[in-house]
Amino acid sequence: MDVKVFQFNGCKKCFNESLLLKEGAKYKVEYVSDPKNWKGEKVDVSVITGYLLPGDLEHLENIKNNSSKVIAYGDCTATGGVFALANQKGHDVTPLANLIEDSNSIQGCLSEIEELKLAIDGVEAPKLKNLCQICSRKATCDYMEAINRQIELEDSEICFNDLGFLCSGFNAKECKEKCIDYNTPCRGCKPSIDRSGIRMLAMFGTLAGSIEVATEHNEKGATDKLADEEDDVTRNLPDIVGNFFRFTLPTSGLPKGRIPSSGTLLEDVFIGRLIEEIPLISGLLGGAKSISLTLKFIESYEKANQIEIGAQTQKCREELLQLEKQLQNTIDKEDASAYKEITDKIRFIAGNMNLSNIFYGGFKSIIDPNDDFNEYKTHVFDVVEGTYKNGSIEYAIDSDGIITEIKIKEG
Ligand code: SF4
Ligand code: SF4
Ligand code: SF4
Repeated sequence: MDVKVFQFNGCKKCFNESLLLKEGAKYKVEYVSDPKNWKGEKVDVSVITGYLLPGDLEHLENIKNNSSKVIAYGDCTATGGVFALANQKGHDVTPLANLIEDSNSIQGCLSEIEELKLAIDGVEAPKLKNLCQICSRKATCDYMEAINRQIELEDSEICFNDLGFLCSGFNAKECKEKCIDYNTPCRGCKPSIDRSGIRMLAMFGTLAGSIEVATEHNEKGATDKLADEEDDVTRNLPDIVGNFFRFTLPTSGLPKGRIPSSGTLLEDVFIGRLIEEIPLISGLLGGAKSISLTLKFIESYEKANQIEIGAQTQKCREELLQLEKQLQNTIDKEDASAYKEITDKIRFIAGNMNLSNIFYGGFKSIIDPNDDFNEYKTHVFDVVEGTYKNGSIEYAIDSDGIITEIKIKEG
């Protein structure tokens, strides 16, 4: 079967992951990294990766007219993904289904190759469990005591939501990348329901409401504090859009954002986000450079704030940077088995290809059980306002740890 994979805009991690289609030689696969100049020829299955803009329509129609089947592979193409956070500031990142009719879609950031193979073969995917069903953390059914940010992270066996860390696992499907195994709450890249962000907001709001209802009352009423300037709930949960709608903003049903653009689309993705979410965002959208980009962010902050790094942590980071270089070589050579070998090694250290195990000062969970985890362990850090620079990136944060300016030079 002839399969062509087309990369449109932004991160190329899903495009690169589709290299695994070459394993086993079942499909005849070709990669098109410049679909705007593709001349067009008949093909059985076209796979689209990367985020899309209305200006891509003409090229997508060319692909559609030449293909028996079109599949959106990954959140960027299926629902707008992380780049669509820029829609909050006037951009128009658009899911494939809004541009051409009759496409299939596979969600996930990074999206899973097994699901792509089933879609190409036209085989119905098995029904997946809910993420909470396969999570090792357990609900307590206690009242939530406070809403916490990831900078207050501690290892625990209790459900993140019960501890006050927002986790979208309630509304997510079981996934291969499983951030939750690396002390990282789920941000819902594989939603199990439509309009998952709104529903998660409602659910978390209900949990959080119990803080107020259970503990706060005055002469104006039990929930009066929700509208109060000193309201702990809204103060501790900044960036509602980035937390609840990270992968699905264009399909969320929310009205179009009215915040003015800060500059480029990439700047508009980052500005307004919390500093502790930065590794989780740069780890997603940095494509082949996601490791070096994420480490630049983290290391610039660590350096300015004298956050100490253990020797093992440093060693693992160096290994990751080496692996990133090797990965690029295997991609250039379209070598599927070497790609698998290297990505397995990256996953071993970084948790997954989203780099969910990497954090400020260290790693979030044990890498090798024989090692002393104190050398890897994440250091809880205070937010310190300032401007941070490391090579090609420069960013400023305010005293709440929210990014107010960012410059990322390409290359
Ligand atoms: S940002 Fe996520 S969904 Fe988009 S291409 Fe990268 S890995 Fe895939
Ligand atoms: S909400 Fe998150 S932490 Fe809680 S059980 Fe579900 S997946 Fe696990
Ligand atoms: S745990 Fe991570 S990879 Fe799995 S659905 Fe949630 S965000 Fe996606």
